Amino acid sequence: MSTQEQIIFVSEMLLKSTHSVAFTGAGISAESGIPVFRGKDGLWEKYNPKALDLEYFYAKPKASWEVIKDVFYKFLINIKPNAAHYSLAEWERMNVLHAIITQNIDNLHQKAGNKNVFEFHGSAARLICTSCLKQYTALEISLEVLPPLCVKCKGLLKPDFIFFGEPITEEAYQSSMKALQNCQLMLIIGTSGEVSPANSLPYLAKENGALIVEINKDKSLYSNSLSDIIINGNATEILQNISMHLLAHNKAVK
Ligand code: NAD
Repeated sequence: MSTQEQIIFVSEMLLKSTHSVAFTGAGISAESGIPVFRGKDGLWEKYNPKALDLEYFYAKPKASWEVIKDVFYKFLINIKPNAAHYSLAEWERMNVLHAIITQNIDNLHQKAGNKNVFEFHGSAARLICTSCLKQYTALEISLEVLPPLCVKCKGLLKPDFIFFGEPITEEAYQSSMKALQNCQLMLIIGTSGEVSPANSLPYLAKENGALIVEINKDKSLYSNSLSDIIINGNATEILQNISMHLLAHNKAVK
């Protein structure tokens, strides 16, 4: 199939499927200007990744928070969704996309307008007290003095996303499993498939009979082992192209 034929086929599958799920990774946000974490020009070339190591965070919360503030709260908070995020929001409104399970912590799916988003690794948009577990939105808490402390119990606050060495929360795991139930079509968008255990979710969808469509500008760990259809290219371009077909279909049936 040519890329254009693949796009038409996936549009038709989205219209037919009664439960479609998008599984997204850092690649969908790359065109918003968020650098990947690893490799040349990755964030960890400039900053010490130890800042996100759980043991280090508890041992040296101030040093850890200095990096976290720079990376996640001076920079990430100002980033805007791109055309790929907006396409998924449009598909949810059209009722052809039923859930997003994301590995990203950048809140961009919600900013674009998606409601049914399951954050497998948590979110930088929230902070959580490590003592009493009270949650705050990031905007509620001043980062003038580091580390930030819980207003209620003075416990240490932590971004509400998974650090290195931290297990997935039961809530994130169970809600993602629920979102996968009865999945007929899974779109894997912009993920290398290297981060475990998140990378096992598409395999579960496949075992349950879902058609797996991968959208990525390069090969991923899924490309040779799992994906039924692979559309190579930038997420913004491909998702906008699928959107055009969906909108044309909607006009034709009206
Ligand atoms: P990854 O960095 O391992 O892989 C990114 C994938 O996206 C690659 O396969 C790459 O080919 C593809 N890609 C890059 N640009 C693309 C584009 N424009 N269109 C389509 N595909 C593109 O990312 P991962 O698999 O999500 O794993 C990284 C981990 O780091 C995750 O746990 C994630 O939470 C975290 N992370 C999050 C963010 C974020 O929240 N935006 C950013 C970086 C890393």
